[in-house]
Amino acid sequence: MPRFIFVIGGVMSGIGKGITTASIARILKSKGFRATCVKIDPYLNVDAGTMNPTEHGEVFVTEDGRECDQDIGNYERFLDENILSINYMTSGSVYLSVIERERALEYGGKCVETVPHIPEEVIRRLSAAARRTKADFVLVEIGGTVGEYQNLVYLEAARMMHLRNPQNVIFVLVSYLPVPKQIGEMKTKPTQYAVHSLNAAGIQPDFIVARSEMPLDEPRKKKLSIFCNIGPGDIISAPDIDNIYEVPINFEKDKFGLKILNKFGIRARKQDLGSWTRMVRKSRLAKTDVVIGIVGKYFGSGNFTLTDSYISVIEAIKHSAWSCGRRPKILWLDAESYEKNIRNMKKELARLDGIIVPGGFGKRGAEGKIKAIEYARKNKKPYLGLCYGMQLAIVEFARHVAGLAGAHTTEVNPRTKYPVIDLMSEQKEKVFGKRLGGTMRLGAYACRLSEGTKAKFSYGLPAGKAGVRTVYERHRHRYEFNSSFKKVLESKGLVVSGVNPESNLIEIIELRDHPFFMGAQFHPEFKSRPLNPHPLFREFIRAAIKNKKGAIIKK
Ligand code: GLN
Repeated sequence: MPRFIFVIGGVMSGIGKGITTASIARILKSKGFRATCVKIDPYLNVDAGTMNPTEHGEVFVTEDGRECDQDIGNYERFLDENILSINYMTSGSVYLSVIERERALEYGGKCVETVPHIPEEVIRRLSAAARRTKADFVLVEIGGTVGEYQNLVYLEAARMMHLRNPQNVIFVLVSYLPVPKQIGEMKTKPTQYAVHSLNAAGIQPDFIVARSEMPLDEPRKKKLSIFCNIGPGDIISAPDIDNIYEVPINFEKDKFGLKILNKFGIRARKQDLGSWTRMVRKSRLAKTDVVIGIVGKYFGSGNFTLTDSYISVIEAIKHSAWSCGRRPKILWLDAESYEKNIRNMKKELARLDGIIVPGGFGKRGAEGKIKAIEYARKNKKPYLGLCYGMQLAIVEFARHVAGLAGAHTTEVNPRTKYPVIDLMSEQKEKVFGKRLGGTMRLGAYACRLSEGTKAKFSYGLPAGKAGVRTVYERHRHRYEFNSSFKKVLESKGLVVSGVNPESNLIEIIELRDHPFFMGAQFHPEFKSRPLNPHPLFREFIRAAIKNKKGAIIKK
């Protein structure tokens, strides 16, 4: 019988509900249980693929090809396991199923209503996820914050599950305790209100995870305990920390895992957070910086710089840097500004040990990215291009090395004389028919590595994996390297180092006379884990560390 742990947010969003969920899952795994995480996104979008990353954060892609909320990435990184697409739902997808069922007369003439039919569909999906993953524990993160109109139906589903099976369902409220500057004291009242709202939905939390700038002290713990009707031992202090991967260790200092098991009346099967603790220790010991610049465009939101749009890229850099004993220093560089100010670009890029151009879409910033890639190629700066970053590296090479002036991707210039990057043939009817939701080339596909390439070397390096020839990597794109230009670009020195064996689609390119210049049509960042850094990121970081010593600067 699977057990369910609902994780609900209080007071405000963005306080680490996803990390809390993932950390609890890691702890339960370390105690010998199978744990999985489900994310519920209350948006009407059917999946995260149609949401702008500056508003909603990165679109994370699962192995089985669903476009999800970035929290699925946190779950994978903390659990070191792939999460299935069944572990993600949006309100749009839930309503769509109910409406489709109604159209198929499956409700037998009944009035179909928001309650109970929507919560019933949610419960059906949660049970299916538990069955498919064979999990002992299913952590369910309900997006948004208690009190929002949007997530009421999910609280209702959670309440119904608890009513049917009280011994197998518990609730964790992740709440925020502000310390207003002018008062200088931690305030509990907003959390009290959050608990009252939760109570109004028929739910009493079993635990409160108290997020704040600083640790929770005894007087405030007491106050929360009395006003929220919860034992002081079930209030877990969760102060801000620099490294998210320390959260499971901090929780364990409070015996959070044991307390959770006690609520269900079960015992731990083992206790092993060893590899995790070693990884965190290694990250703490790293003192020398490796400086990586991400040249992108999804940073701005009003007066604030958001980095959520590239979270998997950032985490992948960290994993590899730590495993090489370095402290990652990541800089956000605005591609658009490079279109106007080349001098400033050169100044910024010269400070870096390595350059990444991440995934992206459309015209804005594309020429700036191409300029940064040209700089990386000419100045022998380690370069890693991710999806769009690979496509634009090919455009740059075609224009400046192969002499194909005006070469471009047809995504930006459909009339270019040299369409080196073009729409994949199976994408044409989708784009022209406006069937755009969830129709990109998505999820894992095979990539066969060519002998003698840096790509093959990178993947083959870990002990015991010397014979690696085919790897599976995750995709999210509509355009591809137009193979009619393969010969001419190869003749000028471009190396094709990975190809999909079924479609012949070009998956990885690299340059030979360069310390590290690689572009991948897929997104290696989605498969990088703190305990298993991604081979391409690891080699890129190694090259960046070497580059630090002897950078050559060309005008
Ligand atoms: N815009 C490009 C394409 O659709 C690249 C996509 C990406 O970087 N994820 O092919």
